[in-house]
Amino acid sequence: MIDRLGRDVHYLRLSVTERCNLRCRYCMPEAGICKKRHDEMLTEDEMIRAVEAAASLGFHKLRITGGEPLVKKNILSICRRAAAVAGIREVCLTTNGALLPDFARPLRETGVRRLNLSLDTLDADKYAYMTRRGSLSDALRGLDAALDAGFDRVKVNTVLIGGFNDGEIPALADLTRRFPVDVRFIELMPMYDGGDFGPEAYVPCSRVLELLPEAQPEPCDGGVAELYRLPGAMGRVGLIRPLSAHFCGDCTRLRLTADGHLRPCLHAPEGRSIKGLDFAAMRAAIEEAVLEKPAWHGVLTPERRSRAGRNMNEIGG
Ligand code: SAM
Ligand code: SF4
Repeated sequence: MIDRLGRDVHYLRLSVTERCNLRCRYCMPEAGICKKRHDEMLTEDEMIRAVEAAASLGFHKLRITGGEPLVKKNILSICRRAAAVAGIREVCLTTNGALLPDFARPLRETGVRRLNLSLDTLDADKYAYMTRRGSLSDALRGLDAALDAGFDRVKVNTVLIGGFNDGEIPALADLTRRFPVDVRFIELMPMYDGGDFGPEAYVPCSRVLELLPEAQPEPCDGGVAELYRLPGAMGRVGLIRPLSAHFCGDCTRLRLTADGHLRPCLHAPEGRSIKGLDFAAMRAAIEEAVLEKPAWHGVLTPERRSRAGRNMNEIGG
């Protein structure tokens, strides 16, 4: 669907849960989330209806996210049904990877074609610190399982955090030489007020290029990342710069949260709820949300917080 500014909005990011098995310090409070009532969340049928309504408006790419999507009991059924919706050409999923050793193959069989795995460090102690309860070995076993399961593409997402992982940029980028994966560095977005990282933790993506002078530019593949390749590498290094060079002019996305709110922009305040609506009303709400997409996300600097009003686990990233 084409929005008011001529952008082709065709990419739906569906969050299936706010819950997570980890507690990354930049994403979620240690105590977890204030649990919403079951009847406040979208049902599986409502999620699929929303995907069908979006597809009827020309959406053809779907990403399943969370919270951690693999903690959702009916995740395989959601993925299978979403992948079968007429018009949906590509289903991708974003995960922290801890449950992939069990889920990678069944997920691939549902029709999910691409996986993004979040990994912010290759140091076991730092991983345990950042996630508050995760284990690096689980995440790395998850990466292996993803590579074995035959996905079209596997990407590793790393949020840059000054003083935590900026010293690991070369080692993380080296994963593109060791495995057929893209590694994408993402600038830390100032989302969550109580998070452990303030403006001093922001590292612009330009730091990645300073540390990887041998990286050569590659053509863009239609996504939001600027792409580079290290000599001899199988995968590419990507830079995602929501702060230092926002990509709103090319934004193709609409978000739907697990509790049913449409978000025309990651950093805009809450959008309209589609909980309980029938197909026609959902379709109309999605159409309206696309037409309401703002031109850009507004001023977003390390010091100036996002207007999203939610933590990232409650939106989906
Ligand atoms: N649990 C899954 C995972 O970690 O991949 C999916 C949901 S998570 C909210 C989606 C992505 O958002 C992850 O790659 C995570 O690192 C990223 N993220 C969370 N908070 C962020 C922040 N403040 N700035 C930038 N990226 C963030
Ligand atoms: Fe969970 Fe993903 Fe947020 Fe980490 S980034 S707390 S894994 S939702």
